[in-house]
Amino acid sequence: MLTNTGASLARHIVRQRSALPNIYVKSNLSGEYTQKSYSSTSSSFSGYGFALSEEQKEFQMLARKFAEEVIIPAAPHHDKTGEYPTEIIKQAWSLGLVNTHIPQQYGGLGLGVLDGAIISEELSFGCSGIQTAIEANGLAEAPVILAGNEAQKKKYLGRMTEEPLMAAYGVTEPGAGSDVAGLATRAVKKGDSWVINGQKMWITNGGKANWYFVLAKTDPEAAAGKAFTGFIVDANTPGLTPGRKEINMGQRASDTRGITFEDVVVPDENRLGDVGQGFKIAMGAFDTTRPLVAAAATGLGKRALEEATKYSLERKTMGHAIIKHQAVAFMLADMAMGVEASRLLVHKSSWLRDRGEKNTYLASMAKAMASEMANRAAADCVQIFRRKWIQH
Ligand SMILES: Cc1cc2nc3c(=O)[nH]c(=O)nc-3n(C[C@H](O)[C@H](O)[C@H](O)COP(=O)(O)OP(=O)(O)OC[C@H]3O[C@@H](n4cnc5c(N)ncnc54)[C@H](O)[C@@H]3O)c2cc1C
Repeated sequence: MLTNTGASLARHIVRQRSALPNIYVKSNLSGEYTQKSYSSTSSSFSGYGFALSEEQKEFQMLARKFAEEVIIPAAPHHDKTGEYPTEIIKQAWSLGLVNTHIPQQYGGLGLGVLDGAIISEELSFGCSGIQTAIEANGLAEAPVILAGNEAQKKKYLGRMTEEPLMAAYGVTEPGAGSDVAGLATRAVKKGDSWVINGQKMWITNGGKANWYFVLAKTDPEAAAGKAFTGFIVDANTPGLTPGRKEINMGQRASDTRGITFEDVVVPDENRLGDVGQGFKIAMGAFDTTRPLVAAAATGLGKRALEEATKYSLERKTMGHAIIKHQAVAFMLADMAMGVEASRLLVHKSSWLRDRGEKNTYLASMAKAMASEMANRAAADCVQIFRRKWIQH
């Protein structure tokens, strides 16, 4: 049984990596070098490899056990009621399974993207809604890790490691999603502060966040690459109002909301990077977060595959277990291929990022491929369960 041993278990795992080489990754935004000692580098320096390090295997087992013992038993309740999984998140946080990539100098574990992807797949196998709530912290933190200054990192990343707080990434708006350049939320400089007005939509952890990363237009005349600036906005800032919790079609445990900004005053010290750099920062964060979203989709696909396989072995029609019917076996084979291929893209795109190499191309492919695969696997799983599905 998993106990709340605090992040000490995770720290114990991380300590064992002392023999691994440190690498220095240069941020293409701040120009700063950050020391990394990712476990994923242990094999990457000796060429292309598919073996997980001992540390990664331990994190995988920890997350798998947590999914089995804590998430899976509670998931139906949270899915039915939409109740936010506060207690589960607290437990995951105390085990070191939340905020995994906050650097060690700000109190985090400093795990790599590949390490995080391995954990995300396992948590999502348990429940992709609960995993999404956890992952949204990583999404919000990524721009701060990428472009924050020392004071911002200490304050906003540090606090995430001191208590189980949530954060949110506020980019999408009612009128703009894929088309980030179409955002309309405005930030206008007034003295030493910025005044933000506008509306964000579909923001995960929208009503639970302690702070938000917010992308706002600061120069309406400029091209997208220079028109936006990123800000860190405290949730208790007057004028910031979360809307009602949306009733999602799936992932109902996750808290998805609109956020209204009415004359929200943000000090200039909360501006992330230079004025006009926001689009680049938001897109740069995706290099870290896309593989993690893809890992979660891989976990969902794997769960669909396992549940459908189990049922196909039990359920008999026309004198045979349905797995013997080729139509069913083909669906299971497609699921298995999809899960394996998605995982390879996730791992390769994460590995590239951990080495400090450009991974946008593969990270985008990983997210597109894994999310399509998860959708298809879930639909095929429903097909295989048929009438049984109605009982759930
Ligand atoms: C559960 C949930 C949680 C979310 N959490 C967050 C969050 O935490 N923070 C956040 O900022 N956002 C969040 N989002 C928003 C998400 O990022 C957007 O939904 C996504 O970017 C798509 O935008 P859209 O919904 O406006 O779709 P649209 O951009 O309107 O797209 C509609 C359709 O058109 C297609 N399309 C659009 N443009 C093109 C194109 N150029 N070429 C071809 N096809 C195109 C799209 O693929 C899609 O099929 C969340 C969304 C959901 C559903």
